[in-house]
Amino acid sequence: MEEGHKQVFVPIVTTPGGKETILGVFSKEEDSWDVMRAFLSRAAGTDIVSGNITAWEIDFVGEEGQFVLSSFDRNHCPVCDERTFWVEGDEEKARCYYPRCGAWIEQNPYDSERWDCGWPAANWDKRADSYKQAFQRLIEMRAQSKSAGNQIRMPSREAWLGERDRERRSIQKMKVDSVLDEMTED
Ligand SMILES: [Zn+2]
Repeated sequence: MEEGHKQVFVPIVTTPGGKETILGVFSKEEDSWDVMRAFLSRAAGTDIVSGNITAWEIDFVGEEGQFVLSSFDRNHCPVCDERTFWVEGDEEKARCYYPRCGAWIEQNPYDSERWDCGWPAANWDKRADSYKQAFQRLIEMRAQSKSAGNQIRMPSREAWLGERDRERRSIQKMKVDSVLDEMTED
């Protein structure tokens, strides 16, 4: 562990009007990602449109003590059309959090010229040369499945919930639950 260079990680989500909600303050970066993803997986009922994870240096004098690690933007999914498609960073990664869809796009970690995308519900993966092309592939996947009249094999609710449970930890879940409760109360 490096001493004298401590950071905390803060996931924040934002409404169209710019109202920010802090989801927590974490000493481990991994925890801030877990909380953000747990939130996104359940954000369909909120009016949140964007978010970011910011790292803050602590015991730091001056304005340069913070920087944004990643940002998140909400969009319509090219496959299921739900507004549950979250794009990370500058189109580096995207994922649909709608339980029965799960469409995703990711830059290949070993080859920056290559992009991968997939639609787990239909068990399809494809590759592309750019984010935009990967996005187009997802649209094509949907069109093909429709024209073929294929019944897409959706994961069962239990399988979906099992996967989600692995993704989050109980304390973080409680935190997200309480934030969501506050946001959906009128
Ligand atoms: Zn989707």
